[in-house]
Amino acid sequence: MYGMSGILRIHQRLLSVYGDPPRPERDPLAILVSTILSQNTNDTNRDRAYERMRARFPTWEAVRDAPLEDLIEAIRPAGLAPTKAPRIQEALRRITAERGELSLDFLAQMPLEDARAWLLSIPGIGPKTAAIVLLFAFGRPAFPVDTHIYRVSRRLGLIPPRTTREQAHTLLEQMIPPDLYYPLHLNLIALGRDVCHPRNPECVRCVLQEDCAFYREQRSTSGPLHLLLIRHGQTVANLERRWTGWRESDLTDLGQAQVEALARRLATEVRDAVAIYTSPLGRALKTAAAIGKALGLEPVPLEGLREINFGKMEGLTLEEMRANYPDLYEQWRDRTNINFTWPGGERRADFFRRVAATCDEILSRHRSGTVIIVAHGGTLRAMLAYLLAEERAKWWAYDLGNCTLTRVVIEDGKARLLVLNDASHLEGLTAQSEIG
Ligand code: SF4
Repeated sequence: MYGMSGILRIHQRLLSVYGDPPRPERDPLAILVSTILSQNTNDTNRDRAYERMRARFPTWEAVRDAPLEDLIEAIRPAGLAPTKAPRIQEALRRITAERGELSLDFLAQMPLEDARAWLLSIPGIGPKTAAIVLLFAFGRPAFPVDTHIYRVSRRLGLIPPRTTREQAHTLLEQMIPPDLYYPLHLNLIALGRDVCHPRNPECVRCVLQEDCAFYREQRSTSGPLHLLLIRHGQTVANLERRWTGWRESDLTDLGQAQVEALARRLATEVRDAVAIYTSPLGRALKTAAAIGKALGLEPVPLEGLREINFGKMEGLTLEEMRANYPDLYEQWRDRTNINFTWPGGERRADFFRRVAATCDEILSRHRSGTVIIVAHGGTLRAMLAYLLAEERAKWWAYDLGNCTLTRVVIEDGKARLLVLNDASHLEGLTAQSEIG
């Protein structure tokens, strides 16, 4: 079951892909009739039927009083027209008889459950249609569960697998904060249409993988290999913006807090971790140790995961390098020069080769599950550039904050970037640095 933080995380991730849906004002009767038309058909057919109906019968009175056969003919593109046409007319007649006019505005003021019960008492109107009218026409706190939301919420594990559609309305309304009903309703539908198809959901493209019970279950048996790339917590050198490759630098208090926040998140989200590999430098070891404790895994240090060796520049700030070694500074700024060599340290090309070899070694040991790699900004950028060939030309452009999450999936021999620099678990903690 999901807590409030899980719901908020799902909401934020959906927002990041599908945005905050607009809230146009719409005629409540149009919403009611269009929802009846939408039953068992797609949006295109529903809209065609609706437009035909309104063209033929421009007022609601005309729809209500139309000869049944004519209305059936008008809404035929929606399918099941002989069933839907009498339902529409009956609803309109009922409203007229009870309210003396063709208007649903009274529902805005009625106690919520009375309004819902009133709508449900109309033949052909079920919990979904009632909730759609209440939410979309009047902004009232009702959460409609359509076929997409029903499927996605069961897969995610928001509701138990055997929950009925009716029960889902109640459970989801209890679980989701009312101010999120509108965006979550629309964005879960967007996810259902975009990637979480009834058959063969495209989990590799889905932003909710880490929240999804279905996905975890699939991967625990067989399936792709996931790499979670994690840069260590903030260090004193990060804070002071000093080049720190092979030198040691302690985690700051913030860095320690980042590590703990990350470990807490991974403990709740990662169910299939098979290994943790870490750079042998202290800042990475400490980060990996906290994650290992949370997941019950012993981190494995690998020399190849060290940061690049900055040689004589170790300990200097960028400004000091620019002031004292202007030529070197200019050479360093040319990121396309893979022969750039840190005086007394490593050549870029050698560093890339070292990281690539380490990456290959890790990949050769695992076929599925989640492998966690704790290292440094430079190391992880080099690894991303190696894994994602199409991105190689911009290896320096990856923004990797301390203790953020980057996820790459390896499937059918191909790597795909799923999540880059996800810092949602660090909310409230600040100050990131780019060096080391
Ligand atoms: S991870 Fe897969 S099953 Fe889960 S919500 Fe996303 S697409 Fe659907």
